Amino acid sequence: MIVVLKPKISAKEEKAVLSEIKKLGYKPHVMRGVERTVVGAIGDERKHKSLETLTTWSQVEQVMPVQKRYKLVSREAHKANSTINVRGNIVGGKKFQVMAGPCSVESEQQLLKTAHAVKKAGATILRGGAFKPRTSPYEFQGLGLKGLKLLAKARKETGLPVITELLSEDHAELVAEYADILQIGARNAQNFQLLIAAAKTGKPVLLKRGLSMKIEEWLLAGEYILANENPNLFFCERGIRTFETYTRNTLDLSTIPIIKKESHCPIVIDPSQGAGRADLVVAMCKGAVAMGADALLIEVHPNPAEAWSDGAQQVTLEGFAKLMEELQPFITAAGRE
Ligand code: PEP
Ligand code: MN
Repeated sequence: MIVVLKPKISAKEEKAVLSEIKKLGYKPHVMRGVERTVVGAIGDERKHKSLETLTTWSQVEQVMPVQKRYKLVSREAHKANSTINVRGNIVGGKKFQVMAGPCSVESEQQLLKTAHAVKKAGATILRGGAFKPRTSPYEFQGLGLKGLKLLAKARKETGLPVITELLSEDHAELVAEYADILQIGARNAQNFQLLIAAAKTGKPVLLKRGLSMKIEEWLLAGEYILANENPNLFFCERGIRTFETYTRNTLDLSTIPIIKKESHCPIVIDPSQGAGRADLVVAMCKGAVAMGADALLIEVHPNPAEAWSDGAQQVTLEGFAKLMEELQPFITAAGRE
């Protein structure tokens, strides 16, 4: 930790800070500048009490951590990019991966039709929500277990692994029985007990960024997965709340190079929740691929106008096939397959 002292404090006040630092188990290293004095408190922050209480002292200006608060997800902990094997699909490696399917599983016919179409167009993982986090309690809440069973059927027919959202700790074992990747939604991104329950299933976890989550908070939420002995974590940017209302959310593509710099875990972009508009999805996908994303999560529906959730942002089956074609040169240019 770095402790910055206020300018013009007395020798006695400085000494009191130094003895408190020692009392808490750190070795103070004093650096005197022209204007003010800075103290480096040397010691393992994981083993000693936090020095943050010093911020309440009148002679202290600031207390700053030197080490990052997230460790296991950090690039320092693991220099190489992590790859995650999802039923033989390696995410985070050379092959670019596309997860696609409806926002919600609505019926057998809707899901199977979509699953076959996205597979034919080149998607490698099937998405579909069975438990839906809806803003209003009067909106479609998902088919639940029936939806999970339909996802398993679609996987059997197409061979595509399945990603679906885990909404509640109570459902962790059940959802993990059917899913190949557990999706933690934006609204639950800091539901720490849910994160622990998801991690403990042993299934790969895709962690969406919360609606107003800072990058550090997102990385720390991801840390819960790795800290609970599950190394298979994807970060997924899906847009954040800003003052802008032209789009449903503001898709923050800067998270791609930031996550790549800070973490070894793969980064996935969801342009569907991100823009909230089907007409913007292709451009967002191209941008994400060019910027180094490892995968996309795209909502696709046979008839978006009649979708039971998120109709405005879902692309049609034909639209998805065209998108995949348009994306190919960007995938190649990004050095992916
Ligand atoms: C979804 O993927 O359909 C969804 C609800 O996502 P988010 O949690 O990002 O809103
Ligand atoms: Mn959706």
